[in-house]
Amino acid sequence: MLRLRLDPTACAGHGLCADLLPERISRDEWGFPIISGDVPPALAAHARRAARACPVLALRLDRIADRPGARVMPPRKAD
Ligand code: SF4
Repeated sequence: MLRLRLDPTACAGHGLCADLLPERISRDEWGFPIISGDVPPALAAHARRAARACPVLALRLDRIADRPGARVMPPRKAD
C-alpha cells in the first residue's frame, strides 16, 4: 500500500496532481489538493505519475505497511 504525502508549504495549487489522480486527490475551493485515503496497488502507477508530475516536488509517495506493526522494507537500489 502507498500513501501520498503533501508538503503544503511547497504546493502552489496547480492542480495537476488532482487531474492525474482524481480517485484520491480532489481540490479545495482555492485549487489546493485534498488527499483522501491511501493508494491501493491498482492506482499505484497513476499515483507515481501524479507525484512525478508535480512541478514543485510537493507531492511524495511513500510505501506503508499493509498491516499495523508490519515493517516496510526500503526500496532496493538499482545495480
Ligand atoms: S501538482 Fe504539486 S503544486 Fe500542483 S496542486 Fe498538486 S501538489 Fe500542489
